[in-house]
Amino acid sequence: MINKIKGTYDILPDEVAKWQEIEDSIQNVSKLFNFKEIRTPIFEYSELFHRGVGETTDIVKKETYDFKDRGDRSVTLRPEGTASVVRSVIENKLYASANQPLKLYYQGPMFRYERPQKGRYRQFRQFGAEALGSNSPLIDAEIINYAATFLEALRIKNITIKINSLGDALSKEQYKRKLQEYLEPNIEELCSDCNRRYKENPLRVLDCKVDKDNPILKEAPKPLDYLTEEAKYHFEQVIEALDAIGLNYVIDKSLVRGLDYYTHTVFEIDANNMESLGAQATLVGGGRYNNLVESLDGPDIPAVGFAFGMERLLLALESVDKPVVDPFIHCFMIALGDEVQGDALRIVNDLRHGGLTCDYDFFNKNLKGKFKQAERLNPMFLLIYGEEEAKDMVVNVKDTRNGVQETIPLANLYHYIVSHINTQGSSCSGNCSDCDEC
Ligand code: ATP
Ligand code: MG
Repeated sequence: MINKIKGTYDILPDEVAKWQEIEDSIQNVSKLFNFKEIRTPIFEYSELFHRGVGETTDIVKKETYDFKDRGDRSVTLRPEGTASVVRSVIENKLYASANQPLKLYYQGPMFRYERPQKGRYRQFRQFGAEALGSNSPLIDAEIINYAATFLEALRIKNITIKINSLGDALSKEQYKRKLQEYLEPNIEELCSDCNRRYKENPLRVLDCKVDKDNPILKEAPKPLDYLTEEAKYHFEQVIEALDAIGLNYVIDKSLVRGLDYYTHTVFEIDANNMESLGAQATLVGGGRYNNLVESLDGPDIPAVGFAFGMERLLLALESVDKPVVDPFIHCFMIALGDEVQGDALRIVNDLRHGGLTCDYDFFNKNLKGKFKQAERLNPMFLLIYGEEEAKDMVVNVKDTRNGVQETIPLANLYHYIVSHINTQGSSCSGNCSDCDEC
């Protein structure tokens, strides 16, 4: 037997409804914020990620799936979405479109060679968004609000929004030097990765998962204390906007992000009820990346975005009060006898064209078998149709929720089903003129 690759998973039919709920919320909330979907390939030239994400990041150093194609080109399965979106914006000159800022979102599989565990896979899915072309702190706040509203739409409420600022390029440069000076005398006490990072990319030391509780890191200088006046003003404006919207957040002075390209605002949202999962409790990470577009040979335009891990949303959804409803079947047709099969199929088809989910007994089992199959599928209505019914042009309809069984003229069938979908337990036949529905 050939098994799935380590760090991947199948989404089986019984689990798909939860994914679809997340996907529906992505579309609905993105529409509210007027973000438009963009779809890019899942592999790109390796150089895009090496330059975009950063040579010194863990992702590029240790986690990318790089390979040579048969034409000897170096290609990489995308480990994240932003670099591809920026590549597409540059290549298709979307930055020149009349609608600015460009508000884009994406969702799809990403690939990282990581140690698989709960909430961490080698193929995982992200929902991400990018707003390109505006330096306004209001857009930073809009992006954070978009992420928070999406969680609210999924009823994931027990969260902490953490924000921080790394400042502009000058602030980052000043801070980097300060941090290196601070770390140098004690660097041997930190892990081997930190020993490497502190030279190449000292900010990442603060993001270390091994040493996160080490007092050396806890007491390290913080980026927020090294902001230029301009960067400080930008951050204050973001905070003012978040306050105006009424979002609850905490300023986390130690928050930095794992990718090289961030400037100014960075943020993460953690699920509080997943704290036991440690680093895997982070549902979304994002921030401003004002230099990325230019560094990928595009024009000098600022941008800000986020990326959610969708598997972690699924974990967070497990503890949401109202469970996600399973997809339901409105009608299941039990046709009795070969002579009525054609008619029964037509009845089912007409109901489907009216927007009702219907299924059919395709095995031509005996009566007991047919009812067993119906029981397993758990439809709202059982339709029973045999020679007698065909003669009288009626269908026997059983509402499985309250057990009421009625004989309904074929001509009224659709109206009967539709008017009874939301009337749990009502025994009205759909034309009594006494009840609320009629
Ligand atoms: P982490 O610190 O958890 O490794 P990251 O900083 O590498 O996250 P980003 O690159 O910012 O994460 O990706 C954004 C989000 O994507 C994360 O907050 C997380 O929800 C999700 N994510 C990242 N890597 C994985 C993975 N291997 N499996 C599942 N989800 C992931
Ligand atoms: Mg990571």
